[in-house]
Amino acid sequence: MIDTHTHIYEPEFRDDLDETVSRAARAGVDRFIFPAIDSESYDRMVRTADALEGKAFVCIGLHPTSVGPQWRKELDFVLEKFRIRRWTAIGEIGLDGHWSKEYMAEQKAVFEEQMILAHDASLPVIIHVRDATDELHEVLDKLLFAGKMPRGVFHAFSGSTETYLRLKAYGDFKFGIGGVVTYRNAQVAATVASMSPEDILLETDSPYLTPVPFRGRRNEPAYLSYISEKIAALKGMDVGEIRKVTTSNAEKLFGI
Ligand SMILES: [Zn+2]
Repeated sequence: MIDTHTHIYEPEFRDDLDETVSRAARAGVDRFIFPAIDSESYDRMVRTADALEGKAFVCIGLHPTSVGPQWRKELDFVLEKFRIRRWTAIGEIGLDGHWSKEYMAEQKAVFEEQMILAHDASLPVIIHVRDATDELHEVLDKLLFAGKMPRGVFHAFSGSTETYLRLKAYGDFKFGIGGVVTYRNAQVAATVASMSPEDILLETDSPYLTPVPFRGRRNEPAYLSYISEKIAALKGMDVGEIRKVTTSNAEKLFGI
């Protein structure tokens, strides 16, 4: 399996990164995709990826919650780093109105610019959306009209079947399913049951969104085993088959 969204480069894993990677390997998770956040976490991300020698694939991008007063400087940092190496994807990028909508206009502009960057470079995007549905559709409609829609994944997807079908209609998009699918009464469980396995990517978003039975503790890539088991149960499929299909989905989307 490939954990298509993990932040094991963050300080939460400073003391046991090697053990975390060994536990992942024992659980059948041998590759990791590192979505970027901002300039502050950049060095940790790149250094950790380089130390993991071919197991980690790094992305570049500005996360919507890091769009604030310094947004122009942060976006210029992304544009400058974009040129220096081969990145697996542009991400994570998107819109987040959960904490505040103060910088929503700037978030939209930053998101749109990075979507066009990905489209023009033929790179996939990793999209983070939280409490910004109307704004998301505004940006996506604009990109569609301009013929600038990249391929990508809606990370930490937790929407309804209706939302899934509406987003899927925008183009070549996958949906990252993580620990939330294991939570009691999670709406996304019913959505996953109706999704095509070809549309699903496995992700943990570690250290966040820990699946049951470890909810409340630090999340880590090894827990993809629980997430894939839950997806297999919801779809009435063999877990080995779900792991195979979702790994192939990730390989195709990210070109790895
Ligand atoms: Zn993330």
